[in-house]
Order: sequence, then structure tokens, then C-alpha cells
Amino acid sequence: MAKRDYYEVLGVDKNASEDEIKKAYKTLAIKYHPDRNPGDKAAEEKFKEAAEAYSVLSDKDKRARYDQFGPDGVEGMGGAGGFGAGGFSMDDIFSMFGDIFGGHGFGSAFGGSGFGGGGRQAERVYRGSDLRVKVKLTLQEISTGTEKKLKIKKYVPCPDCHGTGAEKGSSSETCPDCHGTGYVVRTRQSMFGMMQTQAACPRCGGEGKIIKNKCRKCSGEGIVYGEEVITAKIPAGATSEYQLTMSGKGNAAKHNGVPGDLYIQIVEEESKELIRDGNDLVYNLMISIPQAALGGQVDIPTVSGKVRMTIEPGTQPGKVMRLRGKGLPAINGYGNGDLLVRISVYIPETLSRDEKNALEGLKDSDNFKPSESTKQSFFQKFKNLFD
Ligand SMILES: [Zn+2]
Ligand SMILES: [Zn+2]
Repeated sequence: MAKRDYYEVLGVDKNASEDEIKKAYKTLAIKYHPDRNPGDKAAEEKFKEAAEAYSVLSDKDKRARYDQFGPDGVEGMGGAGGFGAGGFSMDDIFSMFGDIFGGHGFGSAFGGSGFGGGGRQAERVYRGSDLRVKVKLTLQEISTGTEKKLKIKKYVPCPDCHGTGAEKGSSSETCPDCHGTGYVVRTRQSMFGMMQTQAACPRCGGEGKIIKNKCRKCSGEGIVYGEEVITAKIPAGATSEYQLTMSGKGNAAKHNGVPGDLYIQIVEEESKELIRDGNDLVYNLMISIPQAALGGQVDIPTVSGKVRMTIEPGTQPGKVMRLRGKGLPAINGYGNGDLLVRISVYIPETLSRDEKNALEGLKDSDNFKPSESTKQSFFQKFKNLFD
């Protein structure tokens, strides 16, 4: 097959500058890239043809020989030689991208669409793992919301190399194996035609860069195990189902990659006095027989201090009194739960002689005996509690 003129292939004129040649090739390479033209043999040929033309015209010596002797002048002259035999492999073509696109690889050259259509990024970006911690909160803290300073043990960017993994004064260089693309493409002939496979570059681990002198503190990883003090803002009304997500506060990633997230789970510290029931709180109040019969004042603990409550004369055990709004705030900020005071009456387990005498005197009083209707209404009240 007769070769087309290289200048014609790239669509530039014989006096084109290096920059013009580069630009022309870049345009064609993007246009005929196999990624954009899957299965299109003609495009693949054009892609190869452009690469071949560029490999000669971008090299001063080869270009001079080509200008003087034509295609024969560069045939078999080393470098990308062996064109005629079709030995100019896709590997060679792909490796040229590293130079022409400034080592950024396909990801940026092709508008981030990546190579292979899988959204692959040209350079590997590490991601740190997520962390989960539990935070114990008292009901008081839950009622107002709180800020907690948490000391989190985790991977942090190495302080010596600031996460780069390179020893001071040492820089990283473009990986010579993948030319900064982070992957290598292998082409082989199969019964279905040319097959291409790509894999993370084994030399640089897919990063596209190689650190010359690794940081001694972190062995080139860019991260060390340490701790960070993090302030977590817990909203009022948080429940144990509530989870606070602090993005980017998880483990740091190697080589200044994307850090993981930190998940904070609320654990309610058990209160000695109050029981939580959703946004309501329950307090079990035990009063004496005289208090129940005569009435009086009692102090009820709440999340915001003590509250004085009146016991009506003749208060029955099992009665539930509701202190409106003295429960916990709803986490969405709308309204407050109540504090339910459940009353029980204490019966002394032993009696002095005088106390015994006093009660003996009341034993036969009809007023101290529950009537049938009292029993009924009491029964109903209790029944309702369980409905
Ligand atoms: Zn380091
Ligand atoms: Zn590499």
C-alpha cells in the first residue's frame, strides 16, 4: 500500500512549525481515537496513520530525512521504525500521548471521559477509608444540643512531607513506563482482530508518578497514624438512630488523595431518674401515704433543673401527670415532648407502735375502704394505660 504524504495526513503544510504539527496531530488523535470510534476500522487506520506521521514529523532528524528522501528515508531507522511491517503498535501510539498531552493522560485530554469508556481517571486518586465513632450524651446534652470535642485516632497527612510522600527537596517524576497516564495498554492479535486490554501501570501503581526519594517518616505513603481533635455539633433532640456525617474527616488518603468520612453515632447515657420514650420523658414519682391523702408539693427533676409540682389531695397510685413541653425537643426543631410523672405510693415495710395504733384506728373507717365505684374507675384507669 502506497503511503500518503505525512504532511497531507496531518493536514499541514511543508513549512509547518513544530507547534502546528503537534496541534494538528492532537486534533486528529482525539477525532480518531478508538475510544470515540469503537469498532471503526477506518478510524483506527487514520489514528495509526496520524501517529505514524507525527512520530516522524515531530522528530527533527527524521523530518529532515523524510523531506530529503521521502518515506524511504525513515524506513527502518530505529525509534518507531518498522512501519512498513505494520509493527507500529498501539502501545507505541498510546505512549506518545504521555508527551503530547503533558503527562495528564487521557482523562483530561478527552474531557474527563476517560479511556475505555468506563469513566476511568487517568491518574489514580486514593481515597481514605471512612471512620465510625460513638459519642455518649446525657439527656441534658441531648435536650439542648451540644458541641463535643472528639480526639479521633486515624491516618493523617504526614507532617514531614505534607502528604506528598517525597523527601524534602525531592520531587516526583513522570513514570517512564506509562508516561504519566497511570496505565498500560496491551495490544494483541486475536481471531477477532486486534484486542486491547489496559491495566494499572505496575511500576507506579497507577499513579503516573514515581517518587525519587521517599519521605522517611511515612515511607513514601504520605500518611501516618496519628490523631485529630474534631468538634462535632450535635443537634438538640438527637436519638441513637441519628448519625452525624462529617465529610472528609475520616482517614487521610495516600498521596493527598480524598479523605474518607467520619460517621458519629449518638449513644444515650442512661439517666438515673428519667426514662426516654421518643421525645417524651418519664419520671417515676413515689410519694408517701399522707402526701397522697393530704396533697402537697413535690420537686420533679427535668432536663433543665427541678420543677415544683402540686399533688392534689386524694391522688391515687398509678396516676400519670403530664408536664407539657418538659420533654425533649424534636430533632427537626418543631415542638417539644412532655414529661410524664407516674405516681406510686410508698407503703412502709415496718411500723412503730404509734404508727400501728394510728392505722388501726382508721381500719374500720368506711372512708378508707374503696367503694365498688372507686374500684371500677380505678380498674378502668389502669386498663386504659394498657390499651
Ligand atoms: Zn512523609
Ligand atoms: Zn506508570
